[in-house]
Amino acid sequence: MSDRPILILGGTAEAAKLAARLMAQGYRVISSLAGRTREPAKLEGEVRTGGFGGARGLIGYIARENVSLLIDATHPFATQISDNALVAAATTKVPFVRLERPAWHARPGDKWTSVSSLEETVSAIPTKSRVLLALGRQHIAPFARRGDVHFVVRMIDPPEVPLDLIDFELELSKPGSVEDETTFLTKKRLSHIVCRNSGGCASYTKIKAARDLGLPVIMIDRPHRPGTCTLPDIESVSHFVDETLGSLRT
Ligand code: NAP
Repeated sequence: MSDRPILILGGTAEAAKLAARLMAQGYRVISSLAGRTREPAKLEGEVRTGGFGGARGLIGYIARENVSLLIDATHPFATQISDNALVAAATTKVPFVRLERPAWHARPGDKWTSVSSLEETVSAIPTKSRVLLALGRQHIAPFARRGDVHFVVRMIDPPEVPLDLIDFELELSKPGSVEDETTFLTKKRLSHIVCRNSGGCASYTKIKAARDLGLPVIMIDRPHRPGTCTLPDIESVSHFVDETLGSLRT
């Protein structure tokens, strides 16, 4: 195995699977996590945790660790770290690729309202509705001005500071199967879902359940990203790595 590691900027399920895949292919892999999740799933290979200190810090890390290839496998809505990765790749000239799961697209039966910002989302919620807010804790504050709406806020970890919404309940759980989501939406008498177009399977179950129940979804579109070398799945990224670093593999 080459001593030079591949650095994966992670924090997503695909990043974890990619780390395992590249390890199995004989590469040395370092996965980087921001450190936001209290109990992150176990990762194969080496792991480092915490911010780098901006693009400059990432550039320094890449140089110190003699990184052979940089993979940005962060979440579609995590734009700051991706911007930093682009700057770092351009500066250090290490080969770079982004792994980004494709966005969801509305299907027949879906009742989506597409919005492009949190402010637009807050305004798009009808009065007196009961809304599932499937958003991270750092995105909840703007909804505080909607005292006319009942929110069910679903999170994996409890918030560190109390939420300042007026009418809400907290649900600490992960998305379940389509059947679980259907039961949940019905039991909570939810009339709308607010979520981001994250893509992937794990959180699609609520979208399918909403379609089956005829519930409207206020869908926050993905942020615009500069054109980069982006691949949609683990398979294609692993081929890219093989082609780029094949000579370093044991
Ligand atoms: P962000 O706004 O793009 O990043 C903010 C700062 O957090 C970055 O500038 C960087 O700090 C640090 N950071 C982010 N990802 C990092 C990583 N993988 N390794 C080391 N430092 C990282 O990102 P975010 O939206 O807060 O998301 C944080 C992490 O959670 C990401 O790794 C992402 O993949 C994961 N995640 C995000 C979401 C989401 O909805 N945003 C959902 C699921 C998972 P420095 O500038 O100091 O380096």
